[in-house]
Amino acid sequence: MTKKTDTPVTVIGLGLMGRALAAAFLKAGHPTTVWNRTAAKADRLVAEGARLALTVGDALKASSLTIICVTDYQAMRELLGAPDVELDGTMLVNLTSGDSAQARAAARWAEQRGARYLDGAIMAIPPAIGTAEAVLLHSGPRPDFEAHQATLEALGTVTYLGADHGLASLYDVAGLAMMWSVLNAWLQGTALLRTAGVDAATFAPFARQIAAGVADWLPGYAEQIDNGSFPAEVSALETDVRAMAHLIEESEAVGVNAELPKLIKAMADRAIAAGHGGEQYPVLIEEFAKPR
Ligand code: NAP
Repeated sequence: MTKKTDTPVTVIGLGLMGRALAAAFLKAGHPTTVWNRTAAKADRLVAEGARLALTVGDALKASSLTIICVTDYQAMRELLGAPDVELDGTMLVNLTSGDSAQARAAARWAEQRGARYLDGAIMAIPPAIGTAEAVLLHSGPRPDFEAHQATLEALGTVTYLGADHGLASLYDVAGLAMMWSVLNAWLQGTALLRTAGVDAATFAPFARQIAAGVADWLPGYAEQIDNGSFPAEVSALETDVRAMAHLIEESEAVGVNAELPKLIKAMADRAIAAGHGGEQYPVLIEEFAKPR
């Protein structure tokens, strides 16, 4: 998509992330208006060419697109819900982190006040903003995303997920679940190997290879989940559970924390008790999909 760098943009909230967002817009050439509760945080951006708005209302009026990035949704409502703030006719992109219910409620709240609203999630740290490495997820009305996509691309790699405003937050937490699970598994393995004098750096390339290999299984396993059918093509859950028992026994024998493998084995044991022992690992989705 052709970048349009002359579109004026407003950034409200100049914490670590908001400052990175505003700096990326400035760098891409967008006339950038900023506002922050603590005005001094705008000093450097102003020195780089940003315009500091004196009020939130002025900040909103300055641009056809406003990005808001504050601590949480409550802060966003406090800011934008102030009596002197007029949202009618504004286009808001909320990059504040929260859950999907908060995102949907914020969308209704903003739309009732006459604003157009896209929710978003930032899967990046501030130094990555403005590079392709920064992944930004958006959800809400497609025409609004498409109208502003070229401008939003100044921030990183932007992806549109769908009309449901809650999707960006849901993908965000699903991504975090992946990230922590991979890291935790690596830490478990590292703790085990260190008991035999193998350091983390030695295990890391091996662990990386396993993580990449497992990642290759995902499309096939996803097909099983979507079809609701889990034939044991390569391994049955009851075979996996025997290996889980080895992991627990080994961890306990060498004095390593076994809580995590025990938790996973307990879920697998329940699936086996429910009659799924002869099926393949993704049948565990049924355990993950319900509250405990
Ligand atoms: P931060 O440095 O703590 O900044 C918080 C911002 O929110 C500041 O601008 C603060 O204003 C403002 N704020 C908080 N409560 C307010 C209120 N009641 N009224 C007005 N302004 C208020 O946090 P951050 O790192 O920029 O994070 C901002 C959002 O980005 C969060 O939702 C975070 O989860 C998300 N995020 C951050 C990262 C990251 O790596 N930093 C990564 C992904 C997503 P003051 O300056 O006046 O205090």
